[in-house]
Amino acid sequence: MSESPHEPAPQAPAHPAPEPARAQESRGGRGNGAILEVEDIHTYYGAIHALKGITIEVREGEIVTLIGANGAGKSTTLRSINGLNHPRRGAIRFQGRDITSDPPHKVVAMGVSQSPEGRKLFPRMSVLENLEMGTFQLKDRSTFKDDLDRVYTLFPRLAERKAQKAGTLSGGEQQMVAMGRALMAHPKLLMLDEPSMGLAPIFVERIFEIVVEINNQGTPILLVEQNALMALDVANRGYVMETGHIALTDEASALAKNEQVQKAYLGMD
Ligand code: ATP
Repeated sequence: MSESPHEPAPQAPAHPAPEPARAQESRGGRGNGAILEVEDIHTYYGAIHALKGITIEVREGEIVTLIGANGAGKSTTLRSINGLNHPRRGAIRFQGRDITSDPPHKVVAMGVSQSPEGRKLFPRMSVLENLEMGTFQLKDRSTFKDDLDRVYTLFPRLAERKAQKAGTLSGGEQQMVAMGRALMAHPKLLMLDEPSMGLAPIFVERIFEIVVEINNQGTPILLVEQNALMALDVANRGYVMETGHIALTDEASALAKNEQVQKAYLGMD
């Protein structure tokens, strides 16, 4: 197994003051400044036209979710943003700056950090060493200890297991390491690709609670999820993707009540 994560390592945010309110209680109430703007992007894998004009935005303070069936293009949207697969048409702006053609390390350095699908940990390295990998793009390491404390407070299990090899952790614990590594980079925007995938229900609930907690500490989140029910429960807004385009967008609470969404993604008749 390769020890190189294929996704860019994490990056960025100022250490934000904890905020007591949960995302559900503050939907839409955190200001309208768009931190990420994705405008009509078209992304390909060779001749395969995977994204056919995707337009989404994430505003300061928000949790935004991308939901949709397998193969709809959710991960490709994240890969377009993080610089792993540049769109051939359209534009991506982060904090108003064009990053459409920037390489992954530059996007990471700007403050876009991702916890990738499948976690992509370094299995033979310890939990602590994996967390340290999140900081390698940081110029200022003076906050390392505080950042580590923050991660250990969010995930006390990781503090107990800091010397354990990441490859020997449970799936849920590995997901915690992947999210913790992304947080060690001080993200100004955190992108999470399927954080609940393969986890036991008890871990799924905890992971979503932590997603809300991270957001309440001030970090906007772009959340890709197959578990639409949970994603819409924690998000402010959502986009429903179907085969390379956005089929629907609305406040998350409205999407959760939408008949079409309920039938297709929430398992309701
Ligand atoms: P999932 O939930 O199954 O991960 P997704 O919504 O994230 O699905 P993507 O992985 O973004 O979907 O895939 C979008 C489309 O691009 C699919 O048709 C997929 O087959 C195709 N695709 C993805 N990766 C590649 C690749 N490396 N080479 C060729 N086609 C790809």
